Parts: sequence; C-alpha cells; structure tokens
Amino acid sequence: MHELSIASSIIDSVTKEVKKHDVRSVYEIKLRIGELTAVVPDSLRFGFESLVKDTFLEHTQLTIETSKIEGECIDCKRGFTVENFNFICPHCSSKQVDIISGNELEILSIEIEK
Ligand SMILES: [Zn+2]
Repeated sequence: MHELSIASSIIDSVTKEVKKHDVRSVYEIKLRIGELTAVVPDSLRFGFESLVKDTFLEHTQLTIETSKIEGECIDCKRGFTVENFNFICPHCSSKQVDIISGNELEILSIEIEK
C-alpha cells in the first residue's frame, strides 16, 4: 500500500523535527499533496492513524490539502489547470505540455505544544 509508506515517512520526518525542539505533543500536521501523486487522502489518513496508535502522535490531527495539477503549454506558452488527467492544452490542443505543479507531497506545517 502506497499510502502506508508515505504515512510512515511523514511520521519519520515529523518525529525527527520535534525531537530537535523538545516537544511534548503535536496538535496538527498539515500536508499538501498534488493530484499527480495519485495519493488518496482518506487512505493516507487511515494509514497515518493506524501507525500513530500508542505513540506521541496519537492525538494529532492530520490535515490534508490537495493541489491541482498545473501545466504550461510548450507551444503557446499558456498555463492551465489539468482536469481529469487530461494533459492537452485547452488553448491550442497541443500535447506538448510541461507540468508545473501537482507532484508535491510536502509537510506545510507542524503545530506543536511545548
Ligand atoms: Zn497551447
């Protein structure tokens, strides 16, 4: 399961981060996930919750924000939002498209209690 290993690496990085700062508990972890990663937020949340049981992250709220895939046409240089994985320029129908964003999987913030 893809999401479980992602949840595990998120927990690893959060754990590393809070250890540096002598933190007792974490209120909230905010994530941003691009649509292109094909990560299912509910599965990720489920994986996270099963992994943090009986750890200091057990009561941490996981907030997941998804971001759209943004493309830029190589032919007409115009930007657009990719809907339904349709990677064709809506302005000139070119298939030469650069992906600008949508592939991110990042921790936006960690809310802590000292
Ligand atoms: Zn175009």
